[in-house]
Amino acid sequence: MKIVTLPGGETVPALGQGTWMMGERHDRRGDEIAALRTGVKLGMTLIDTADMYGDGAAETLIGEALGDVRDRLFLVSKAYPHNASRKRLGRACEASLKRLGTDRLDLYLLHWRESVPLGETVEAMDALKSAGKIRHWGVSNLDTDDMDELVAAGGGACATDQILYNVTRRGSEHDLLPWLVEHGIPAMAYSPVEQGRLLAARTLAEVAKTIGATPAQVALAWVMRHDGVIAIPKAGSVDHVRENRAAADLVLSDADLAALDAAFPRPRDRRPLEML
Ligand code: NAP
Repeated sequence: MKIVTLPGGETVPALGQGTWMMGERHDRRGDEIAALRTGVKLGMTLIDTADMYGDGAAETLIGEALGDVRDRLFLVSKAYPHNASRKRLGRACEASLKRLGTDRLDLYLLHWRESVPLGETVEAMDALKSAGKIRHWGVSNLDTDDMDELVAAGGGACATDQILYNVTRRGSEHDLLPWLVEHGIPAMAYSPVEQGRLLAARTLAEVAKTIGATPAQVALAWVMRHDGVIAIPKAGSVDHVRENRAAADLVLSDADLAALDAAFPRPRDRRPLEML
């Protein structure tokens, strides 16, 4: 499995598993558990979740599905911005730990920015780290100016910025992705197949056909084409997980990349970071 190095030297798989919308439907539960377990067996041991997903239902599902293999996982969860204060972050983290059935998170993220000052969130994250409740912390949906502010506020230990990034969402290539590379902070690409919507795109199908892959594999390999980008597709079936796993071994040629560039050009001008 391709790996990505976090600040400090620890490595994680470049392909993980997202869990938004999981754990919300009783009739899907068996398939979702089987999908997550298959992914872990195949090396997709980075699991991304959030307290927001199904109001904790996704975290509860992960605890049930993967409790017996917890030590093999790199478990990522996120806190609502209204909980990202000195006073509230500890309680939010404890609630996530309880639902996940674990005593520590490998990575805890601020889900997006609202009114709590970034410096206060950094302090609260550092306190959780000192207490052994989290091993690393990071952010999500923060644009370049926010990242500058975060570092200025003492947030130099930030381990990732989780952002919307796929072949149709390339605005961050102007300055945010270069900023992250410069600071040695990996990006974590969410919605890497645009929640399934981009899988019908003609060029993806054409490139996929020429290399004997599938559109989902091409979309994921494109996201992971640079070192320092982790993709976290959500897949609710064993078949989709197996298909996605193979994308980590796929290397797109210059001709494939040129065809994708032509069909999905980077926006000409810088634009604010998009989020879902
Ligand atoms: P996504 O991973 O781009 O797409 C998920 C959708 O694609 C599901 O409907 C899934 O269907 C389908 N899919 C996956 N693999 C497929 C395949 N091989 N063939 C066909 N369809 C496939 O979208 P996402 O869930 O929004 O993003 C991924 C993860 O990122 C989330 O689950 C969450 O953990 C995280 N996220 C974070 C934020 C944030 O603000 N930080 C925002 C959004 C998402 P099945 O379920 O049927 O397999």
